[in-house]
Amino acid sequence: MQDFWYSREADEVLRHFGSTSEGIDTSEIKRRAEKYGPNRLTPQKRQSAVMRFLSQFNNILIYVLLAAAVITALLDHWIDAWVIFGVVLVNALIGFLQEGKAEKAMEALKGLLSPRAMVRRNDRSMSVNAEELVPGDIVLLQSGDKVPADLRLLTVKDLRIDESLLTGESVPVGKQSSPVERNAALGDRKSMAFSGSLVTYGKGEGVVTGTGDDTEIGRISSLLGTVETLQTPLLQRIEEFARTLTIVILVVSTGLFAFGVLVRGYSMTEMFNAAVGLAVAAIPEGLPAIMTITLAIGVQAMARRRSIIRKLPAVETLGSVSVICSDKTGTLTRNEMTVRSVALPAKQFQVTGSGYDPHGSFLLDERETDLSAHPQMRALAHISLLCNDASLEKKDGIWALTGDPTEGALTALGRKAGYDPETEQREWPRIDQIPFESEHRFMATLHHNHSGNAYIYLKGAPEVVMDRCSLQRNGEEDEPLDRGHWEKLLETIASRGERLLAIACKPVTTGMTSLNFSDVKGGLTLLGVTGMIDPPRDEAIAAVKRCQQAGIRVKMITGDHADTAKAIGRMTGIGNGTTALTGSDIEAMSDSELAGRVEETDIFARSSPEHKIRLVKALQEKGNVVAMTGDGVNDAPALKRADVGIAMGQKGTEVSKEAAEMVLTDDNFATIASAVEQGRTVYDNLKKSILFVLPTNGGEALSILFAVALGYTLPITAVQILWVNMVTAVTLALTLAFEQAENNVMDRKPRRSDEPILSKLIVWRIAYVSLILLAGTFGLFLLYEQRGFSHETARTVAVNTLVCFELFYLFSSRFFVESVFSRKGFLGNPYVLYASGILIVLQAVFTYAPFMQHLFASVPLGASDWLLIVLVSSSVLFLVELEKFLLRSRSSGH
Ligand code: ADP
Ligand code: MG
Repeated sequence: MQDFWYSREADEVLRHFGSTSEGIDTSEIKRRAEKYGPNRLTPQKRQSAVMRFLSQFNNILIYVLLAAAVITALLDHWIDAWVIFGVVLVNALIGFLQEGKAEKAMEALKGLLSPRAMVRRNDRSMSVNAEELVPGDIVLLQSGDKVPADLRLLTVKDLRIDESLLTGESVPVGKQSSPVERNAALGDRKSMAFSGSLVTYGKGEGVVTGTGDDTEIGRISSLLGTVETLQTPLLQRIEEFARTLTIVILVVSTGLFAFGVLVRGYSMTEMFNAAVGLAVAAIPEGLPAIMTITLAIGVQAMARRRSIIRKLPAVETLGSVSVICSDKTGTLTRNEMTVRSVALPAKQFQVTGSGYDPHGSFLLDERETDLSAHPQMRALAHISLLCNDASLEKKDGIWALTGDPTEGALTALGRKAGYDPETEQREWPRIDQIPFESEHRFMATLHHNHSGNAYIYLKGAPEVVMDRCSLQRNGEEDEPLDRGHWEKLLETIASRGERLLAIACKPVTTGMTSLNFSDVKGGLTLLGVTGMIDPPRDEAIAAVKRCQQAGIRVKMITGDHADTAKAIGRMTGIGNGTTALTGSDIEAMSDSELAGRVEETDIFARSSPEHKIRLVKALQEKGNVVAMTGDGVNDAPALKRADVGIAMGQKGTEVSKEAAEMVLTDDNFATIASAVEQGRTVYDNLKKSILFVLPTNGGEALSILFAVALGYTLPITAVQILWVNMVTAVTLALTLAFEQAENNVMDRKPRRSDEPILSKLIVWRIAYVSLILLAGTFGLFLLYEQRGFSHETARTVAVNTLVCFELFYLFSSRFFVESVFSRKGFLGNPYVLYASGILIVLQAVFTYAPFMQHLFASVPLGASDWLLIVLVSSSVLFLVELEKFLLRSRSSGH
């Protein structure tokens, strides 16, 4: 910025950076990379470890506990005071470690989406990781890109950039290569492209003037502070719930203290212990942390399955998606195009060969023909080759494509017709072009050859091309265009599932050196139409079925011809094979008409991005939760509007990724289905952890309330409760995060988005299990008291009963309603087994180690005690399984 690059001539800037429009060479890049460092923003310093550790203490329960420790110490109960203090520390440590792990998981996701940049180095264009850019690099921009560094623009073609990130101005800025005034404000520096802004239209080239922190965005440090918090609506509601509960419990505890002292005549000390015990027992302090890490683990699992979540709430939304609108090309199909047929006005060729391999021949009435007898076919192939940006190269025996698959198929066609791309490009240099966009659905190029001829070549969707043609070529002659004839012909080809593309041309004079939309408005001659196949992905067919079973309607949105779309729909199981709405149908409808049709129609053909947003709105109006895929710049609004916007990791533009909630690394429809399954699973696991944690609190709290109400001594002391909560927090509670999907996740209807978390089933089961825990724990305690054992023995039995209850209940909690009495039910989740093992060891230490006996007033138990504990505590497993059984038989009875 100090150097005012925007106010200097482009050449001067290039010279300053020791670069030319051919780019800098490799050895120099290495040197500069060392000097300037990687092109990335220094991440904002995260809170220091000490601060993060201390922040764990910022929690009402901890305050209560610390106060309790102090008062306990003042009462001269030093051991208890130290135990409380120790447990608080250990809890803080656990929280600290879990939080760190969850944050790391999220950081790792960011790394998976590192953007790339097109550069020219040593006069060769290549795609590099944006982090590798150095000052002086020549960067090529096109619509859909995110500008990878600060650039001084050298050439522009209708380049428009959205700089709202920097300037707050949402209207894209038109760019230029000539310098602007030295005192221009940031938004007026039209000769610059700033790192992080988005190219919404056109093309351009620029030289890198600043990388990493030395960019405009690097200077706005506040922007770097937007670290994503691990938060979703469910987590938020649980946190609020936990906070409210904490306050209620503090009030109840105080009431209990008063009641015990005034009504029941307990001593202050004893009641103080009971009140603290109640608070510790009932407050689910670990729950929010457990849920956060469950979420992080789920998101990590999704990333391993090729769906990267960019915005966390999407994980939850995925579970309630009721409609998926998917692009056809590349998502449902393989995006491997091959031209199968070419239709000329009077004859139809079949083309042989497979993939992009340029070997194959032309058949006429099933017989191989020599193209020298068919100059019109040769002319069509020539245009296909030149009005084209793709290239094919043989790598390791396989023909690999660089560029757009549709164009790759046409390049192969041109080669099959005997043309060599490089020779033709040399003889017919391209002077100008109008690039393909889904909005206008054609591409045009202007060529001058060396013998003084000039042509406009045009290829695109047949309707669009024919609108611009008045003539058609038939052999050597041009005759008036017969649209009716073509329309019938195209319908037949499209019904075979072939993608249609028409080829046309127009002679011009060499005086014409630039190509504009007005030049291709009319007066062209249609040569013919190619039909290319793009087979559906096998796994997409299966995935569509899976979604349909899961109550999710799958809709296809494509720019292709309606008949092509219907044919692919028949192959993939989308739609009824006969109905489709086209973009022009949609345009003719009002919003309410569209809303009336949108639900039962599954195929939308010849539609462009602006139709997508209307579709999303119409579907949402009907109460649907909509997932929508997209890859282009213009898909961004629809992706933003959709409940879950899904961008393509491979062919998607940076702009679309930026707008999306989720990115598919393999562009595959099947991955969406698996993400939905994962989303439902994560949500299930979050609910399972609530269902597991809350009854423990309930059982403990009820035991204390009961004891005080009935005038007994406490069945479990406050420090013992702290111990129970601590050991279960480090062991059992986290294991449910690793639960695999339940068998029926994809047989259920989508979750209603207004479904309460604490559904009837959950509230009921929390109460049911709390009561079982109370009855068992308190019952055994009373039994031991009555048999004349010491309070210590009775309490040791009670603590172990409670812990064993949790252990057995954990197994039941693995499935909501399915029975766990199976091999999978007991052994299916190895973490459950490890955690159980650790817990048993910890309880043995608690019961038998002398220092623990000293700290927690525990005493050794005998074999018969253990037998009784296991007998009683295993009841929870049978009782919950019985409840599930009744639930299952009732629901199957309907
Ligand atoms: P989709 O990606 O949904 O299949 P597109 O918008 O890419 O649809 O394409 C719509 C139509 O535009 C195609 O059926 C084809 O006729 C035409 N088309 C596609 N790609 C190109 C291209 N590179 N150049 C010219 N026309 C194209
Ligand atoms: Mg496309």
